[in-house]
Amino acid sequence: MEYERLIELQRSFFSSGKSKNPDFRVAALKKLLSLLREHEAQLSEALYRDFGKSAPETYLTEFSFLYHDLNLFIRKLKRWSRRKRVPTNVANLPGRSFIYPEPLGAVLVIGTWNYPFQLSLLPAIAALAAGNCVIVKPGEAAPESSAAMARLINSNFDSAYFHVTEGGPETTQALLRHRFDKIFFTGSTRVGRIIYEAAARHLTPVILELGGKSPTIVLADADLKVAARRIVWAKFLNAGQSCVAPDFLLVERPVKEALLEALRKEIEKHHPQQDGLRDNYVQIVNARHFERLKALLDREKLYCGGQARSSSRIIDPTVLRNVSFDDPVMQEELFGPVLPVLAFDDLDEVLEKLKEMPKPLSCYVYGRHRGKIEKVLHTLSFGGGAVNESMMHMANTRLPFGGVGSSGMGAYHGYAGFAAFTHFKSILYKGFRFEVPLKYPPYKAWKMKILRFLLER
Ligand code: NAD
Repeated sequence: MEYERLIELQRSFFSSGKSKNPDFRVAALKKLLSLLREHEAQLSEALYRDFGKSAPETYLTEFSFLYHDLNLFIRKLKRWSRRKRVPTNVANLPGRSFIYPEPLGAVLVIGTWNYPFQLSLLPAIAALAAGNCVIVKPGEAAPESSAAMARLINSNFDSAYFHVTEGGPETTQALLRHRFDKIFFTGSTRVGRIIYEAAARHLTPVILELGGKSPTIVLADADLKVAARRIVWAKFLNAGQSCVAPDFLLVERPVKEALLEALRKEIEKHHPQQDGLRDNYVQIVNARHFERLKALLDREKLYCGGQARSSSRIIDPTVLRNVSFDDPVMQEELFGPVLPVLAFDDLDEVLEKLKEMPKPLSCYVYGRHRGKIEKVLHTLSFGGGAVNESMMHMANTRLPFGGVGSSGMGAYHGYAGFAAFTHFKSILYKGFRFEVPLKYPPYKAWKMKILRFLLER
């Protein structure tokens, strides 16, 4: 369908008021929940064809997030959509003040491929829960997942309400020529800029979920075995193709060798090799990304891994040691299974260095020294993160998820997602009967005295 026509249809559906009705929204989300459950196996199969991801990992990293937020919104959206009374300031008495949450209209969600269902549907679910009409453009680098999602949604929902449009950058560009009431984009910082510029032409608000080089700091007093297990899991899940993956590791020099050894052991345990294959280990999404990552496998700095098989687009979990901030691996977000390890002597110095880099999406710190941990958390600006854990902050939907600076703007997950697609309309209610006539001229000295007293507290 032509985009202009599709957007027009969504606008008129929205202005009919149907999608605003909380009962309608709950019914739509229930329908989506049962469709996803019913077709989970087919969708997982599509993702397996895209880059070899196993069904259990697809459940853990995709469907569990979707089911969680769907259940949450089904339970809570009616309450969240009600007007909320807030206190009224003295100068407005007698009066009452309310906030009316209302949907924005027709919204565009531009997803990406690395968690194709989660990153396209989680924002869409939040937008539907808030009462909007939604067009989703999934990432084209996972074509099977994108097609499966389009088939499922488009054959079960009215496209005037919820529609999936497939295609690459040219499709996104064509969509961006039109006016939306909100654009939610997940992807690279480079494309984030293009989206922001296009949205500005229509003064459309945006949420940008971008990436960056997320550091992990390991202090000398950390439990190295536990740290290594959690870092290896997070780094090599999805073969490192996660926006919140630990990009590189900074370790206090005295424990560098012990940490490297612990990392190697965990890799062998977590991803044992059998006939050249590793359990639950995914492919690099396409040849372009495979070649980009292969070029970063610096043989001289190789600690373990380093094998890259182009026939299967598999790159082994790889650790590089003795890396410096000037090395090629430190110049851009890796987005793959390559973990550079840098040693440091002085935490303050390393924090100064990190402050010079663009603000990342995440940061993780492992250790026991409260003062040092708090110093990291207070000194660096980043989207979100964890202490003695990696990536799992994402799984707590009470923690708004989003970036800052070049890693993005705005947040979602749980209530934050509902709020992201809602306008909070502020209303002051007054009656006709009684009024303190202070605000009207003439402004006599006694009036000003009272006004000063009332307005300033
Ligand atoms: P990308 O920016 O290349 O693609 C994302 C989307 O943008 C796709 O739908 C694509 O069609 C569209 N696009 C690409 N070029 C375009 C153009 N010129 N004009 C208009 N649209 C265009 O993203 P990618 O490289 O596939 O994904 C990796 C990046 O995404 C990494 O930086 C990663 O950190 C980030 N990411 C962030 C999150 C998050 O939640 N913050 C999640 C996943 C990935």
